[in-house]
Amino acid sequence: MNNHMLGSSSHARYGHFHYPRVVALKCPGCGQQMIATNLDCPAGYEHFWDVDPYRGLWAAVCPHCGSGKEMNWEQMKDYELWYKLSLREEEVWAWNSGHLAFIIQKVEKKVDKAHPWAYFEAYLNKSWLVKLSQERYINKLKALL
Ligand SMILES: [Zn+2]
Repeated sequence: MNNHMLGSSSHARYGHFHYPRVVALKCPGCGQQMIATNLDCPAGYEHFWDVDPYRGLWAAVCPHCGSGKEMNWEQMKDYELWYKLSLREEEVWAWNSGHLAFIIQKVEKKVDKAHPWAYFEAYLNKSWLVKLSQERYINKLKALL
């Protein structure tokens, strides 16, 4: 079970839940990265909202072992996120590589306001920003990308 997917209050803006279009998961078959992509949300969007007309269904495909599965949000909670790391008693996690890249920008205080994740800046865990700002921690995050 992945707590990250439970929709903590930090992910509820104006009472609406937002879903990432793409989620990088750990393949339970081979342990490598599998990518779950929402079936309806168009490419170019990073997120959609619970009020958007897209089904809450993702197709997860592992390019390494070929396993694949269609899943809803509840089912996705049974999978581990690919991008996560424990650092200084913080569990840092990201939905996908673009999200992690943005977290790194934020920790480095080099935010590109045009980044597709910039809108979600306010959701980032404040303690990550405080505790991980040293170069050696930033380098560990970068090594995940
Ligand atoms: Zn696999």
